[in-house]
Amino acid sequence: MNRGTNHQIPFIDLAAQRARLAEDIDGAIARIMEHGTFIQGPEVAELEQALSQRGNARVAVGCSSGTDALVLCLMAAGVGPGDAVFVPAFTFFATAEAVALVGATPVFVDVETERFSIDATRLRQAVDGIVTDAQLRPAAVIPVDLFGQPADYPAIEKALEGSDIIVIADAAQSFGATLNGIPVGALAPLTATSFYPAKPLGCYGDGGAILATDTEQKAVLASLREHGQGNTRYRNDRVGLNARLDTIQAAVLLEKLGIFDEELSTRQRIADRYNEQLADVCSVPSLAKGATSSWACYTIRTPERDRLREALAVDGIPTAIYYPIPLHAQEPFSVCRRFPDAMTVSNDLAAQVLSLPIHPYLSEEDQDRICAAIRAELG
Ligand SMILES: *Cc1c(COP(=O)(O)O)cnc(C)c1O
Repeated sequence: MNRGTNHQIPFIDLAAQRARLAEDIDGAIARIMEHGTFIQGPEVAELEQALSQRGNARVAVGCSSGTDALVLCLMAAGVGPGDAVFVPAFTFFATAEAVALVGATPVFVDVETERFSIDATRLRQAVDGIVTDAQLRPAAVIPVDLFGQPADYPAIEKALEGSDIIVIADAAQSFGATLNGIPVGALAPLTATSFYPAKPLGCYGDGGAILATDTEQKAVLASLREHGQGNTRYRNDRVGLNARLDTIQAAVLLEKLGIFDEELSTRQRIADRYNEQLADVCSVPSLAKGATSSWACYTIRTPERDRLREALAVDGIPTAIYYPIPLHAQEPFSVCRRFPDAMTVSNDLAAQVLSLPIHPYLSEEDQDRICAAIRAELG
């Protein structure tokens, strides 16, 4: 391999998508400049309609970010001080941060080795462990659809049988994916997603949405995202947030939704090509039976992760480590309970995972170069 002389491959190529949609997006933004309803404009309602259809959910409510979507879900579920919320240890910080922000207590559960999402057996042990601890009421679990693949919702529901623990899906990475034919958005009573630019469906700034399967949540969520507003403008029924989705971001998302399905199939094709070329030199991701993924990340596992990452960087191939520090090891959460104490899977993953470039505009040529470089290091 020709070290250091190859062009730099982008980790995510938002410019290629931008070039494709520029005219439509600029036109949509220009229309908003004309109508001037920058907050809660008609595009927001139009997007919510499209999202609820796509996610097969009765309710979709746009909001300011994936993190705020999680906070709003917890608030709508009435989760607060004195409540335990079970979260996987191997995820982005915001999953547990949202729990702490509403005054509840995160309880960390180790993940399973197939989809790296919360381990249902460990979850059951954690619930039983917390029930015997009179200090906290087990209130909610937030499974994370890590890297784009839905968590094992049927197993999670089974583990929670006989309890009134509510499931809130952290689908920040997985909008567009399905499990047993059911789309993300209908796999849990409440689903939070993110439109952060790097997510599979991203806007041009911060954005997010909540999907709900119960129509009654619509009014509650819409109120919570707007200062707990009641029937009239300056009547407030509850304490909420200013957590609205900008009209401009809704317009951007509507344009991107038009090509989203095609982009998802391209991501699947790219994941398949990676699997074909890399399965014999490292541990490659696999989909559980009945699952599709939005392929937010394509993440391999190798004990030689750090050496590989450095060598690829020299070759102009960017990689990312999602996530180098599991949440139970993060300073603000160091006092939280965890099940089991060893957290072996999360700790091992943090030391071994490496995410490779994946986006719908990755050329086969660049992908082959990435695979050849990996094979040269690990082969
Ligand atoms: C991105 C992400 C979030 C937060 O979304 P923002 O829109 O950045 O606030 C939450 N959870 C997971 C798993 C994420 O990947």
